[in-house]
Amino acid sequence: CLATFLMVTSFLPTINHFHMLATNALADDDIFTLDIVSRIHTDHDSIAKASSDFGHIVEAIPNGVFHPTSPADIVALIRLSISQPKPFTVVPRGQGHSARGQALAPGGIVIDMRSMGHGDHGYRANLSSDQLWVDVGGEQLWIDVLHATLEHGLAPRIWTDYLHITIGGTLSNGGIGGQAFRLGPQISNVHELDVVTGMGEMITCSPDKNTDLFFAALGGLGQFGVITRARIALEPAPKRVLWVRIAYTDVESFTRDQELLISNPSSGCGFDYIEGQVQLNRTLTEGRRSSSFFSASELDQLAKLVLDTGSTAIYYIEGAMYYNDDTASSVNQKLERLLEELNFVPGFAFVRDVSYVEFLDRVGREERKLRAAGAWDVPHPWLNLFVPRSRILNFDAGVFKGILQDAKPAGLVLMYPMNRDRWDDRMTTTTPGGEDVFYAVGLLRSAVAAGDLERLERENAAVLAFCDREGVGCRQYLPHHASRDGWRRHFGEKWGRLAALKRRYDPRGILAPGQGIFSAAG
Ligand code: FAD
Repeated sequence: CLATFLMVTSFLPTINHFHMLATNALADDDIFTLDIVSRIHTDHDSIAKASSDFGHIVEAIPNGVFHPTSPADIVALIRLSISQPKPFTVVPRGQGHSARGQALAPGGIVIDMRSMGHGDHGYRANLSSDQLWVDVGGEQLWIDVLHATLEHGLAPRIWTDYLHITIGGTLSNGGIGGQAFRLGPQISNVHELDVVTGMGEMITCSPDKNTDLFFAALGGLGQFGVITRARIALEPAPKRVLWVRIAYTDVESFTRDQELLISNPSSGCGFDYIEGQVQLNRTLTEGRRSSSFFSASELDQLAKLVLDTGSTAIYYIEGAMYYNDDTASSVNQKLERLLEELNFVPGFAFVRDVSYVEFLDRVGREERKLRAAGAWDVPHPWLNLFVPRSRILNFDAGVFKGILQDAKPAGLVLMYPMNRDRWDDRMTTTTPGGEDVFYAVGLLRSAVAAGDLERLERENAAVLAFCDREGVGCRQYLPHHASRDGWRRHFGEKWGRLAALKRRYDPRGILAPGQGIFSAAG
């Protein structure tokens, strides 16, 4: 019977062993187990794909890849695991666009969440009758949610820069982007979730119901359950966007203007989206220059600005102003008025008039170019930090004008502020405490040439050491810590609550082992 079968298997010590047991030992009521086991793929290709991620830094070989077609399959898999004397680990994997093995499960089972969209259920989405929210499967891509909701003239309110990633993947982290200064991260724009916990229970949770699971799962790094449905807040979608970049040669004016622009998040009279970039001067004056935004002559103009002023970096505020047919005649004046208040280098404002989808899917276009150039599937030792506003100038001096001044490849560097009151402290995500504003700084660099990865890793380590030494009070976003102590420091005062939630919702420690926060299953 099932119990004996499970006792005997002590599940999946090796792939071959698994095959043998799966075919030998079944009887009577084991149909349930057979059904689950038959959805676990162990072929070379499946295992190879699930052993790595976008980062191409960490490799971890799972014992199998599970292809659920419904949330009930996930419940069954998790129950199968925890019914074992020694349970196997389980990780939901969306697109695997993590950088440090967060969606890997060495020796465990990877749940290929994307297969949920391919079963009988197809695209799992349901719009509310009042059009205020959409229910979507955790496996859905944001780009698909965008297209589906646009058919009704609606869209989610807050976006990551890249949309070919899953709902579950970004909600497990936070989901930040240029709208976050006024609306908070994606996790602040969710009304309800279905979560399959590490106990194999499907629980519906919201700010009013099973509250602790709701706030644990949002930003919970996959530690407490598998998100199978999320109710996402919607707004009327704009048709078009004025997409703007304005350039600065000094960090003080740049940050002052960014903070001015985010200081009135509810008024709706400025930009709808605000981010920023730091372009270290090498990327403008040396090597191959290309940009999805700037034309070749604009890049020449910017390179001349660097040479003329001798500045170490160019800083851009990137803004977006949404508009529709009824506001088309006034949007340019509105932009002009706004730009008059800002202190960028005169003449260095660049404006594109694009559709809403073109604007939101800008990194998708970049991906296609990078893939064509063979520069997408390369190591990505990305480092994302939240830096308190009060220390951003020290950070700039120590990192951009210090550690990274001669960095090669310099790569893409993002830097933009957010209002802390748009984050919900009941969630497990951590932000720098004590200040109203913090900056997201993303060192999004690719290792293309030999030796790049080691160099970039050394620079990342130097940046983290600088932050520690100078007491900058940074927190990692999309965090990675090699030690338990690192994680304790990361979560700070939330650590005790986090550990208690883990004991409650995943007491056998089977979920998302690749994050390395808690000990593996036992
Ligand atoms: P995966 O890498 O598959 O999983 C990430 C983690 O989430 C894992 O621990 C996994 O177990 C867990 N997980 C996945 N699905 C579920 C689920 N259904 N339930 C519970 N846990 C789950 N992030 C931003 O916030 N803003 C950005 O602007 C941004 N831009 C990006 C641009 C690019 C080009 C890339 C590659 C990434 C970017 N990211 C950004 C980071 C991205 O949000 C995260 O890496 C995200 O986790 C990727 O989603 P995924 O579906 O690939 O998740």
